[in-house]
Amino acid sequence: MPQALSAHAGSPEALVTRDPPSVEPARGSVQLTPVDGPLIGGTSGSAAAGERMEARREAAVDRVPGLSKSPDAVPPVPRNFAEAPMLIAWELTRACGLKCRHCRATAIPHRDPGELSTAEIFRVLEEIAGLRPHRPVMIFTGGDPTERPDLSEILARSVSLGLITAVSPSVTPRLTDAVISGWARAGVHTVSISIDGSVADVHDRFRGVPGTFAASLAAARSVVEHGLPLQVNTSISPETPGPLESMAELVRGLGARRWELFFVIGTGRARELPALSAEATESVLVWLAGHAPAAPYRITTVAAPQFRRVREQLAPSGRKAEGPVVKEGRGFAFIDHLGHVAPNGYLPVDAGNIRRETFSAIYRDSPLFRVLRDTSRLKGRCGRCPYREVCGGSRARAYAETGDILAEDPACPYQPEMAAS
Ligand code: SF4
Repeated sequence: MPQALSAHAGSPEALVTRDPPSVEPARGSVQLTPVDGPLIGGTSGSAAAGERMEARREAAVDRVPGLSKSPDAVPPVPRNFAEAPMLIAWELTRACGLKCRHCRATAIPHRDPGELSTAEIFRVLEEIAGLRPHRPVMIFTGGDPTERPDLSEILARSVSLGLITAVSPSVTPRLTDAVISGWARAGVHTVSISIDGSVADVHDRFRGVPGTFAASLAAARSVVEHGLPLQVNTSISPETPGPLESMAELVRGLGARRWELFFVIGTGRARELPALSAEATESVLVWLAGHAPAAPYRITTVAAPQFRRVREQLAPSGRKAEGPVVKEGRGFAFIDHLGHVAPNGYLPVDAGNIRRETFSAIYRDSPLFRVLRDTSRLKGRCGRCPYREVCGGSRARAYAETGDILAEDPACPYQPEMAAS
């Protein structure tokens, strides 16, 4: 499997803002029932059809932990991450017009001729739609997924199979208002746009293309104007995003439903970036924990599952996080542009290929996925930590920095022994 995969291909560790605060909903503990019939074709242009489409999208969004605007409306049901993931990120292509400094995909200007075909993608989507006890949420990413001319077909197929469907495009001239409008008509459930700073200088330097900040704001506004739930993705590194208060204000002003913060891991081009220290990571998480309860959007982290530990430690009521975290191999899987399956996009270890095996066989039975679901195998502080079930550390960062997927997460300063004494 190629070394590095795409941006925003990691497993988000859910956190919701709710009252009382500091309680994470059982991410994945919701019934991912199919959307109420195919959404494609409900685009006759009549007001009634539009309202029906919006109602279906709202209903679908409410069933997804990470996407829900109203966590209290989500009924808890049992889940089994050994049987099916909650989230699948699919890197449809590695082609991309940006030159992001942290890109794990080390994206290339042109599509790889070995990319999965439309028919191969449809075949696997059909298998995924049959997974139980819950159907995974699909996140189509890249590279830039808009580089594929069949993207609209793929999204429509995913939606029509009853899969909750998200798309994570790069902001390039390909991402037009008409494209976003088409996704809304097709019934896509959410769109994420990356914004890595509250000012152009920070974002454009990080993304490598001047003007991308302004274009990203325009794209985010277009998503909201077309009635699609907006997720803003922000990279957390020594260079980004600058003052968190300013960034949070920008996210609020855009009307985002979710703010997802990706704590950069040293894979792909990010190997050249300085790493955020454990202490700096912790202070960002503490700030987020304080900010989350009153925020008008949800907050999730990627590659910082210790956010759940921080939330629990700061919870005035002492309430515990519910259920296991969704992370590499435990409720999350990644498919790359050539069909390789990995625990997530930041942990580029090949567990199998959907050209040769079924997705479910790889997810359920590959030794890599099985060991990642076994928290008793964790080493170092993560292995001794009382939070290992709700956190367990970033396996991707452990692998990137030590070569051992079971090592302790170097970005966490928590000392279990000191806490116990
Ligand atoms: S030591 Fe490991 S399991 Fe414990 S909070 Fe830190 S990252 Fe999570």
